[in-house]
Amino acid sequence: METSSCSLCRDNKAFYHREYQGVNLCKTCFKASIEKKVRRTISSWKMFTPEDHVAVAVSGGKDSLTMLMILCKLSSKFPRTKITAVTVDEGIAGYREEAVDLASEYCEKLGVDHEIVSFQEIYGSGLDDFLQQKRQRLTACSYCGVFRRKAINLAAKKVGATKIATAHNLDDILQTYLLNILEGDVERFVRFSPFLKDPRGQFLTRVKPLCEIPEKEVALYGYAEGLRFQTASCPYMTEALRNELRSIFNRLEIAHPGVLFSSYRAMLRLRQLAEPGVPASTLQPCGKCGEPTVSSICEACRMVGPSSQGIEIPA
Ligand code: SF4
Ligand code: ZN
Ligand code: ZN
Repeated sequence: METSSCSLCRDNKAFYHREYQGVNLCKTCFKASIEKKVRRTISSWKMFTPEDHVAVAVSGGKDSLTMLMILCKLSSKFPRTKITAVTVDEGIAGYREEAVDLASEYCEKLGVDHEIVSFQEIYGSGLDDFLQQKRQRLTACSYCGVFRRKAINLAAKKVGATKIATAHNLDDILQTYLLNILEGDVERFVRFSPFLKDPRGQFLTRVKPLCEIPEKEVALYGYAEGLRFQTASCPYMTEALRNELRSIFNRLEIAHPGVLFSSYRAMLRLRQLAEPGVPASTLQPCGKCGEPTVSSICEACRMVGPSSQGIEIPA
């Protein structure tokens, strides 16, 4: 039956119906379309050069393992490009161990160097212990996000990387973008970009190669590749507002296919329009640890507390 054949190759049986393009795709054409899209995103944002050493943040979840796999495939044509996977062990009992093992397993399969860093070695305690001692009334995710971002920076510097790639997909980007508005953070809202480069070259550039792939298709690619990834949810998962936005976008995309992409385009256009009025980056080195921050002391050093002497990963 024609409707069940691939709209591209016409030979194979359809594996996925891509509603926003109105096409049926077989497994091979679907995977090729995702790889092509990622390649285009990388090239249109000029995310990498052939000499880059890319630190790929790999949590062990579906997005990061899929990104690692795609970047390994794409980089096979660039022999001077190096990839190192970087995994952060936050110290969440019963949750992180499985993901770290999965990340290690895939790095070994793909022949990629793997650097694992932990909150324990960087901040003196894992997230579980830290939350027992904390004084401020922030959520676990607020601490975790700030600490992890910094841990990835430190690990990337430690391995000598020139860029950091994180696995944020299209849905993540839109949720974060709207969260910035809902939380009133206009600065972040207008600056938000899949390509963050410090104009003075002091800090590592961060890129999001999956930023134009819907979450559903990232998961489907992983499934088509037979990837095994962590399925357990973090016990601290409380980001209520983000979850609400996720389900709103899911409902909208079902009712109005393509709305994710049009929102993304609007986001980029708004950023472009705002750019002339946005002051140049105010990032500066943290007075304690030297990592990028907009104030004199970075958020992670402030969260760790006054006893912190700055944070370095032991060699
Ligand atoms: Fe960290 Fe929150 Fe994610 Fe758990 S859900 S790993 S606490 S950011
Ligand atoms: Zn096909
Ligand atoms: Zn600091």
